Amino acid sequence: MSYIHSNDSDAPFNKQFLIVDFTQKEIDNLSDRLRKLKSKLRIETKKLQSMCDHTYVRECLDDSCYREYAYICSKCKHFK
Ligand SMILES: [Zn+2]
Repeated sequence: MSYIHSNDSDAPFNKQFLIVDFTQKEIDNLSDRLRKLKSKLRIETKKLQSMCDHTYVRECLDDSCYREYAYICSKCKHFK
């Protein structure tokens, strides 16, 4: 908060500064939350895949369906 101006005439600046500062903090918090959720998703997916009695289906790997196929479990999305 060291950039907040002390003069009363700078109130609009100070208000805007707080909006920017608050928004940045919100982004930082969400980024941190996203990172933790992605980590949790990896762990939980691995757990799910270890419990699955896989049913593999042949699936196209890209949108163009140009010779890129893989066997992917239809229940847990595990790649063969
Ligand atoms: Zn599976």
